[in-house]
Amino acid sequence: MSQTLDPIVKPDFDIAESSLQRDAEGIPPAPLSQRITMLTAVILPLVGLVVAAIMAWQYGWMGWSFVAMVIGGWILTGLGITVGFHRLMSHRSFETYRWIRATFMALGAMSVEGSPLVWCAIHRRHHALSDKPGDPHSPHLGDDDSWFGMVKGLLYAQFGWLLLDGRWSKPQLDRYVPDLMSDPILRGVDRFYGIFVLLSLGIPTAIGYAVTGTAFGAWLGFLWGGLVRIFVTHHITWSINSICHYFGSRTYDAGDHSTNNPICGVLGLGEGWHNNHHAFPNSARHGLEWWQFDLSWIVIRSLKALGMVWNIKLPTRRLMDAKRVK
Ligand SMILES: [Zn+2]
Ligand SMILES: [Zn+2]
Repeated sequence: MSQTLDPIVKPDFDIAESSLQRDAEGIPPAPLSQRITMLTAVILPLVGLVVAAIMAWQYGWMGWSFVAMVIGGWILTGLGITVGFHRLMSHRSFETYRWIRATFMALGAMSVEGSPLVWCAIHRRHHALSDKPGDPHSPHLGDDDSWFGMVKGLLYAQFGWLLLDGRWSKPQLDRYVPDLMSDPILRGVDRFYGIFVLLSLGIPTAIGYAVTGTAFGAWLGFLWGGLVRIFVTHHITWSINSICHYFGSRTYDAGDHSTNNPICGVLGLGEGWHNNHHAFPNSARHGLEWWQFDLSWIVIRSLKALGMVWNIKLPTRRLMDAKRVK
């Protein structure tokens, strides 16, 4: 059973903009320990990539299993983010069984992009203040219009916002995700988030050992299936925050700089149709045209065909025409 979006697409969690802007100014920087954790989460996958590249150059081709671990792990944990954290929880764009919700939450947590409650809170804030002061990761908040200003904005939106003062590491959950805090699955994944991070590195290490039977294979599994895969997933997700608020086309008037970008659309498992998404945030489908490849939507539609998903929200043609840039 699909339902169409109400013409007023303001989500339930919408909070008065002026109060959010005031709140942004009042958020203190994170304590040092928290900032070191964030720095490690951003830097360590990059170090892993460099080490893996040097080893590949030194030892040559290491077999398809490590490539499969990067691609398979990226798609699985990436869908945890796009279908689970984003479309299911942040925007409540469809409903499903508890065990499916739990599966997507576990997969999303293993992408090492933060616990589901923290991720959803930051993301809802992004929608509430998109490209305005208080948006956690807009590339447009500087006042330097030069090429240098653009690069600075893009780097800030990509990962700088996580590193500069860490203030987004502890969003006010009771303010942004009060509806999600009562969910025992989300609370559980939030509480034991560290275990999911360990699993995210431990599972590929175990697979590397199982495939090769050697400690060297386990190390390669850790490097490729763990750190390199996390690096790939991180930077594709973050490209939606940077590139998809800068480069691409604007089909709909979303009141911000969001764009539809075909490369991010494919690599981002459908999330790069970001202008569509900002125009219709509660839509379960982001690639609204038949040619806009949206793997996350294909997954949601397949689950619907199996009777595992219901109450899917989609915009009507009339609503889409009304918002189309003239
Ligand atoms: Zn956005
Ligand atoms: Zn969103």
